[in-house]
Amino acid sequence: MIDVAIAGGGPSGMAAALEIKKRAPELKVVILEKNEAVGRKLRATGNGRCNIANTESEGYALVSDFLMREGIAFRVYENGLVYPFSESAADVTDRLEERLKESGVMVKTGYEVKTVERVQKCFVINGRLESRYLVLALGGKAGPAFGTIGDGYRLARKLGHSVITPVPILTPVEIDGFEVKGLNGIRARGKVSLIRKGETVYCESGEIQFTKYGLSGICIFNMTRHMRYDKEEGLSCFRIRIDLDPERMLDAFVKDEIRRVRENGEAIKADEERKTAKPYEAAEALLRTAFRPALSREIMRQAGIPEDITAEDLYDEASESIVSSFRALEFTPSGIKGWKDAQCTMGGVSLEEVDADTSESRLIDGLYITGELLDYDGPCGGYNLANAWLTGIKAGKAIADDALQN
Ligand SMILES: Cc1cc2nc3c(=O)[nH]c(=O)nc-3n(C[C@H](O)[C@H](O)[C@H](O)COP(=O)(O)OP(=O)(O)OC[C@H]3O[C@@H](n4cnc5c(N)ncnc54)[C@H](O)[C@@H]3O)c2cc1C
Repeated sequence: MIDVAIAGGGPSGMAAALEIKKRAPELKVVILEKNEAVGRKLRATGNGRCNIANTESEGYALVSDFLMREGIAFRVYENGLVYPFSESAADVTDRLEERLKESGVMVKTGYEVKTVERVQKCFVINGRLESRYLVLALGGKAGPAFGTIGDGYRLARKLGHSVITPVPILTPVEIDGFEVKGLNGIRARGKVSLIRKGETVYCESGEIQFTKYGLSGICIFNMTRHMRYDKEEGLSCFRIRIDLDPERMLDAFVKDEIRRVRENGEAIKADEERKTAKPYEAAEALLRTAFRPALSREIMRQAGIPEDITAEDLYDEASESIVSSFRALEFTPSGIKGWKDAQCTMGGVSLEEVDADTSESRLIDGLYITGELLDYDGPCGGYNLANAWLTGIKAGKAIADDALQN
């Protein structure tokens, strides 16, 4: 019989293990991880840089104390984003592995938790391993390549917990027919709004990445947290509106350019010697220094400017529709990229059934549930790792306190 079995060797499981060992070193703690190593997803976070927490995240003081204590040097950037000083997710994972070894946590890799039963006062894992306490730190369903395929939901349900339907979030958005627009690879700054049945339900400014299937970028990822819809209505109840000039820097520019090009065109026509000079052709060339050509073409299309009109043929009134178009470029989402591309899960074990101070189940004594397996999700910016550390630390502290008292 061991004291604590921790199912899942991600950040929340490792944090729980280290916290227990700090407070009660004599307890026998084992991490059961189905991958060949702990922290595989952690290694891939933040594009390998690991946005490890956010100063605005709940319980940040506890998290930053924990990271420092475990020998992880970090630095705070704009918007409270916290990264390891070396900006390497691999360094963080290696350091945690070392700390698990140093503190005497047993790590069983290649061990898949398939069944969990409550038998009298202990938990029996896979029909043979007995433990006094159990931490379910099995993650959600996002990034299945890292070992998270939703096992935690099945096991939590088996133990009597309710699970709010998991949905992939922090993921790109698909738009039908996007590849034909030639926007793939364009990056632009702007303000993105999510409109649901005419009402703005979310907006955020930042970099928008146009891809071959649709839209990506941090503000698009965060927007997916707000794209809940009924099955019957589908995603067509949403519009994505992009304001490419929220600071209104280009209004006068567009007006002036239209006038200048037209006047120049007229002057050229009147001048025998310059007759062949043709500085502008397609209307979108007007926006050359503002947007990439394919984006300008889409702006003109949405402004209702016919493709065969040249810049010289535009009249002053066209500036209004062009400006309105790039200030409210609209797309209808046709899909949200699935688990493979998602960075997080929305939904999970109901928070009502878990004590927020200790991560302990309100249904079963000695059972703790942590990290992404819970019905918590945060935006990009370190909030999800912060939640994993925090809930793991709380579980570890509560288990050590309980074990020392009893
Ligand atoms: C590509 C990517 C980048 C990300 N970048 C960031 C970032 O920069 N900042 C941020 O805050 N968040 C980021 N996230 C989200 C963050 O990684 C997760 O929210 C966090 O790892 C959750 O921690 P966890 O311990 O709850 O679960 P996980 O890290 O998912 O760990 C769960 C562990 O349980 C194991 N497991 C699952 N089932 C079983 C089983 N049956 N038996 C045994 N073991 C099992 C898994 O193999 C896994 O190791 C990113 C996610 C992805 C996919």
